[in-house]
Amino acid sequence: MTVEPEAAEAGRDFIRDIVQADLDSKRHSQIVTRFPPEPNGYLHIGHAKSIALNFGIAQEFSGRCNLRFDDTNPTREEQEYIDSIQADVKWLGYDWGTDLHYASDYFERLYDWAEGLIRAGLAYVDDQSQEEIRLKRGTLTEPGQNSPFRGRSVDENLDLFRRMKAGEFPNGARVLRAKIDMTSGNINLRDPVLYRILRATHPRTGDKWAIYPSYDYAHGQSDAIEGVTHSICTLEFEDHRPLYDWLLDKLPVPSKPHQYEFARLNLTYTLLSKRVLTELVRGGHVAGWDDPRMPTIAGLKRRGVPPAAVREFVKRIGVAKANSIVDVGMLEFCIREILNRTAQRRMAVLRPLKVVIENYPEGTSEELEAINHPDDPAAGTRKIAFGRELYIEQDDFMENPPKKFFRLSLGTEVRLRYAYFIKCHEVVKNAAGEVIELRCTYDPATKGGNAPDGRKVKATMHWLSAAQSVPAEIRVYNPLFAKSSPDAGNFAADLNPQSLEILKDARIEPDVAQSTSSDVMQFERQGYFVRDKDSTPTHPVFNRTIGLRDTFAKEVGKG
Ligand code: ATP
Ligand code: MG
Repeated sequence: MTVEPEAAEAGRDFIRDIVQADLDSKRHSQIVTRFPPEPNGYLHIGHAKSIALNFGIAQEFSGRCNLRFDDTNPTREEQEYIDSIQADVKWLGYDWGTDLHYASDYFERLYDWAEGLIRAGLAYVDDQSQEEIRLKRGTLTEPGQNSPFRGRSVDENLDLFRRMKAGEFPNGARVLRAKIDMTSGNINLRDPVLYRILRATHPRTGDKWAIYPSYDYAHGQSDAIEGVTHSICTLEFEDHRPLYDWLLDKLPVPSKPHQYEFARLNLTYTLLSKRVLTELVRGGHVAGWDDPRMPTIAGLKRRGVPPAAVREFVKRIGVAKANSIVDVGMLEFCIREILNRTAQRRMAVLRPLKVVIENYPEGTSEELEAINHPDDPAAGTRKIAFGRELYIEQDDFMENPPKKFFRLSLGTEVRLRYAYFIKCHEVVKNAAGEVIELRCTYDPATKGGNAPDGRKVKATMHWLSAAQSVPAEIRVYNPLFAKSSPDAGNFAADLNPQSLEILKDARIEPDVAQSTSSDVMQFERQGYFVRDKDSTPTHPVFNRTIGLRDTFAKEVGKG
């Protein structure tokens, strides 16, 4: 894990240093950045890094950041993705103001500029198939070969390109290529494709176009049209920069953005490839893009992760120029840190075991006071009901406890949080020999949880009244992948079969059932939980956002 603590502390990194230097030297008077998603999937936590970097720089240096959809491939792009991306950027706390743009807004201009390249002898129509083009591109060690169509006249090229646009040829019949250098050491400069024929309905331009610009052609020019000063992208585009610079040099663009590359985020136990995430959804491996096990922003949100935790995480990992893998524990640490401060405490019993307090008067109950947040008196207190029949956690009782087990067993005394000391006398079992009920007594003198004679107990347990608690379904999530570095090529084999555990018989405090999807609560001794959208008025469903401690590494081992 490469974390740059010093940089993160100062909130500085090599890109911010460049921005500061460009302002100091008056190379730029206003900084313009952009976040340029392709609307072919939902955003994930890797995108959050790019969003925080681009929008963060604009905020810190009084510049602006555009949200621009790089919508150049209509076969994979959908309005659903355009909408979700906007919602997710907003949820993360960033605002593009009026600067919402689409590469498709520039299709007309990009087309005119392509004709300009043809007229300047810098682009040609190639009739080779995609496969032929690929075969003749060469390799890292071998130069490519010129296309037999490379020598076409300007007039012929213009005529063919216009007919491509007019829809006269079938998909894939021809492409427009830049005429650069088939022997270049940089494969991206071996006559890259600028336009392809594609009959597909575009979410914004409909059926207007029969040709679409390539990403490499559209991307840099879109930045130039928008006056982007610092075009920030991930390292895999470093080798494309000479092509972007070539195009900026040859075209009558209104500005010349400079591209800077940074390392993309990789996380242990996680795959952040849109292809994999799409297959997880389409293949039914998860319940959708917002499945709480997904590393998508929508998944994190549904899981109860606060946006501040994502921002804190991104700040801590910093921005570096070398690829690395960040421990997912770092994200979990940030989530716990924020929620520990903000989440109200409640009690819930995930796997209930019935307790009968034999010396508690039948048909009565009482209200006890519970604290909503131990470090925040302003969060106040609430009443919780105590009565003769209670639930405790199955794990908190052992009939034959080992030496170090201090919770409830026959004959030991424990404290029920905010309530009384209790002791267990008898175990009731079903026909299968499973413990289904404990017969206990309480000491009425220990009300509030302390004994007047000063005697101590070794455990304090959470509990709920059987009559005055509410049933709920609780979904406990574990990492989607069982290996710390899952194989993106064969991800299904690395899925964690225990990624979702459904607890159907949990019990919660009545007011918890009334909470909303934005009230993340700590269920004492269990972790942080939030109401899920699958809840109905009679069937509340809760997601475990995260446990209180990191137990996963112990359970699964390092993959
Ligand atoms: P693909 O190009 O395969 O569709 P992508 O994740 O690159 O996937 P884009 O929509 O192009 O998708 O990404 C938008 C922006 O987010 C790009 O500038 C990209 O560099 C950045 N980005 C994508 N993945 C990460 C990541 N893991 N870490 C940091 N930035 C990322
Ligand atoms: Mg991309």
